[in-house]
Amino acid sequence: MANILNKDAFFLPEGVIYLDGNSLGPLPRAVPARVQAMMTDEWGEMLIRGWNKANWMEQPSRVGNMVARIIGAPDGSVVMGDTLSIKVFQALSSGLKLREDRRVILSDTGNFPSDLYMAEGLVKLLEQGYELRTVAPEEVANSIDEDIAVVMLTEVDYRTGRMHDMKAMTELVHAKGAVMVWDLAHSAGALPVDMAGSNAEFAVGCTYKYLNGGPGAPGFIYVRPDLADSVEPALSGWLGHRQPFEFDLHYAPGNGIERMRVGTPPVIQLTALEVAMELWADVDMNELRAASIALQEQFIAEIERDVPALTLASPREASMRGSQVSWRFEHGYAAMQAVIDRGVIGDFRAPDIMRFGFTPLYIDSADVSAAVRIIADVMNNKLWDDDTYKVKSRVT
Ligand SMILES: *Cc1c(COP(=O)(O)O)cnc(C)c1O
Repeated sequence: MANILNKDAFFLPEGVIYLDGNSLGPLPRAVPARVQAMMTDEWGEMLIRGWNKANWMEQPSRVGNMVARIIGAPDGSVVMGDTLSIKVFQALSSGLKLREDRRVILSDTGNFPSDLYMAEGLVKLLEQGYELRTVAPEEVANSIDEDIAVVMLTEVDYRTGRMHDMKAMTELVHAKGAVMVWDLAHSAGALPVDMAGSNAEFAVGCTYKYLNGGPGAPGFIYVRPDLADSVEPALSGWLGHRQPFEFDLHYAPGNGIERMRVGTPPVIQLTALEVAMELWADVDMNELRAASIALQEQFIAEIERDVPALTLASPREASMRGSQVSWRFEHGYAAMQAVIDRGVIGDFRAPDIMRFGFTPLYIDSADVSAAVRIIADVMNNKLWDDDTYKVKSRVT
């Protein structure tokens, strides 16, 4: 197996083992200087001329192509912008328009709440008898009937890492005449995705997790190329217009995926992301996956050997897991704070999940063993049982 470890490319603070790149990727070393240069040379010197001279206006599509390569999508099928929640709203509303005779959005109870909240909000806004139906993840396949307009699923469960089978599920959804929306928040940069091969109509995702674009990095949306010129965008902002600088009084959707743009792109943040995406140019996603599984298997084996108090919450079968391993523990919040205090950063997800992400670009086998030693110390010596670890912060 080729070594895909590229630790030197990241800024990783001394004394920290970072197992939370599934939530916020670390800073690629090349980013600060390039963002600084963009600010002084482009924003500073060019001022408004930067939109043309520095090609800021093309950036959402240019970076979209970089993301497309990571998710097995063709050039011109992905565009960047806004947040993932907004992209979920766009995909859902365009999806519903493709099946106007149906009224149900189907999702699962393992989905990230924001995806469900956006669906609830859309249903309320439409006021046409639409409904969001959620079932247990294992029940989705049996719950797709001819009432379902859109099935919206996150491929990798944010809490447990359990995966849906994208290709098989999409086939099932299409067999019932429904539209498929995939959320790739915990897939893009974590494992191989075959967007084109799945034949799904829409996919969305974010770039501050495994893609290391930084806090607030924009989301992305994929539209299957045969639909891109006909889907109806719900958020009809001027930069999704066919000719924004004609300043027409009426909206006309732009060409292809460009119609999924809304307003002015976040150029500084996109520049950070564009630099971060350069790290992926030579990464073979199958090799990344193999390395991720090796780290996860090592972590599970060592924790189960050394830390009896933790119960595996993730699927035991590696092929059923994304790139994270989660454990259940009643006092998981306090335990995670105690672990973080000793330099191993993971996170906590209510009600009792301790979550650790595995990112083979900057985590190796020695990191896993060192992390396990610290977790074992905290758990076996009950170091978490301290009032300072029990006060919940705003972000967990
Ligand atoms: C991280 C995540 C989000 C977050 O959405 P934002 O709008 O970027 O805050 C939404 N959905 C899923 C499935 C996620 O994992």
